[in-house]
Amino acid sequence: MAKDSPKTPKTSSRGSGNPSISIWAVQCGKCFKWRKVSTQEEFEEIRSKFNEEPFHCENKPNVTCDDPAEIEYDSSRTWAIDKPNEPKTPIGFKRELCLRSDYSKMDVYYITPSGKKLRSTNEVGTFLQQNPEFSDLSTKNFSFKSPKIMDDTIPFSSTK
Ligand SMILES: [Zn+2]
Repeated sequence: MAKDSPKTPKTSSRGSGNPSISIWAVQCGKCFKWRKVSTQEEFEEIRSKFNEEPFHCENKPNVTCDDPAEIEYDSSRTWAIDKPNEPKTPIGFKRELCLRSDYSKMDVYYITPSGKKLRSTNEVGTFLQQNPEFSDLSTKNFSFKSPKIMDDTIPFSSTK
């Protein structure tokens, strides 16, 4: 953990059951407390400009650094860390993250407005070529970098 910047936004996912993300959270750059973010869109908005505009508690309405953390980083859930400044998902598209059942990694894919699943930058490139209505987009608007699963928050039951 030491090598991770404390300001890196993180996502968290439940340790058991459906391996999808249940909570989005960002860490305050001043007090290092965790604040919940209600939607993936809001999380991506914060993440997309994280280096230029670090997140602080005051960014949330009626919240200051004096308020208790809304969520604690601990092993009661599995945490995955995103890199800052990843592109926001283009409007109409959906970015999905799926945690593998062995917790080894999160798979990233995009769902297009027409419901097609894109699994790689190559597939995005082909899709954009074939669909000129998205000519304002490029493969740079998509990121297949998967968040890093934090080893110390993987439930013991999955380690055999
Ligand atoms: Zn704070």
